[in-house]
Amino acid sequence: MASDIKIGVVGAAGRMGRMLVRQVAESQGCALAGATERPGSEVLGADAGRLAGIGELGITIDDDAAAMIAGVDAVIDFTAPEATVAHAELAAQAGAAMVIGTTGLGDTHMAALHRAARHVPIIVAPNMSAGVTLLMALVEQVARTLDESFDIEIVEMHHRHKVDAPSGTALGLGRAAAAGRNVALDDVARMAREGQTGARPRGEIGFATLRGGDVVGDHTVVFAGEGERLELTHKASSRQVFAAGAVRAALWSRGRPPGLYSMNDVLGLEA
Ligand code: NAD
Repeated sequence: MASDIKIGVVGAAGRMGRMLVRQVAESQGCALAGATERPGSEVLGADAGRLAGIGELGITIDDDAAAMIAGVDAVIDFTAPEATVAHAELAAQAGAAMVIGTTGLGDTHMAALHRAARHVPIIVAPNMSAGVTLLMALVEQVARTLDESFDIEIVEMHHRHKVDAPSGTALGLGRAAAAGRNVALDDVARMAREGQTGARPRGEIGFATLRGGDVVGDHTVVFAGEGERLELTHKASSRQVFAAGAVRAALWSRGRPPGLYSMNDVLGLEA
C-alpha cells in the first residue's frame, strides 16, 4: 500500500486553514506534516490540531514556509494572493504539488502560477466544492444552448468578513457563461450598476454582490428571457465542503505531471 501523502497547510489559523487542518487529519491516505502562518501572527508556536479544535496533532504552527514546504508532498493554500504566489515559488523549487483556493488572483498572480506550474502540478479553483464545480459545467452548457435573448445575471452572497467582490466563484461562473457564448468575460461583464445606467445591453453578463452575517456562500445564475426564466443555484452551508475538495485535489495530485489544473480535472469532468 502506498504511504500517506504528506500535506502542509499554509495560513493554518485562517477560517479555511482550520477546516483544512481538520480535513487532512481526518482523511484517509494523507497526513498533516506541517502548518504555517504569516510572520508576526499570534498563533505561532500553537499546535495546529488544538487550534482547529480537534486536539493535539504534534504539528506546531511556524512562519518558515520554505522549510515546511521542503518537507511535504503537497501544500494547501487558502491565504491571500501575494502570499499564494510566494508559496507557489517555494513549492516549484521544492518539488511539492500545490492546491490553491485563494481568490482575488489577478493576471500577474496567475502568470506567476503558470510559471511555477512548469515544475509541479498546481490545482487552482475559486471554489473547491463538488457542487459548484458541477454548476460551472452546467452554466457553460446552458449559456451555449440559450441565445443572447436570455440575459445572464449572477448574484452572490457571502459573510461580512469577505474582502473581495464579486466572489471568485461568481467570476468563475461568469467565465463559464462567457465561454458557453464564445466571448471573453472582460468584454461583456458589468460588475455593478448604480444611477442612470441606461437599458441593459444585449449580451451583457451582470453581477450583483450581497454581504452579511455568516453566509458561507450562495450563488445563483439567472438566465432571464421573454416569458421564462431559468435559475441555477448553489448554497454552501458548511466550509467543510471546500476543505474536502481541497484534500481530494491534493490526493489526486500525487504522481501527476507538472501543469495548471482545475477541479474539473480532479472530478474528471470535461472542461
Ligand atoms: P482568513 O482571513 O480567515 O484566512 C487567511 C489566513 O491566511 C489568515 O490566517 C492569514 O494570517 C493567513 N496568511 C496570510 N498571509 C500569509 C502568509 N504569508 N503565510 C502564511 N499565512 C498567511 O480567510 P479565509 O476565509 O480562510 O479565506 C482565505 C482565502 O480562501 C480567501 O481568498 C477566500 O476567498 C478563499 N476561499 C476559497 C474557497 C474555495 O473553495 N476555493 C473557499 C473559501 C474561501
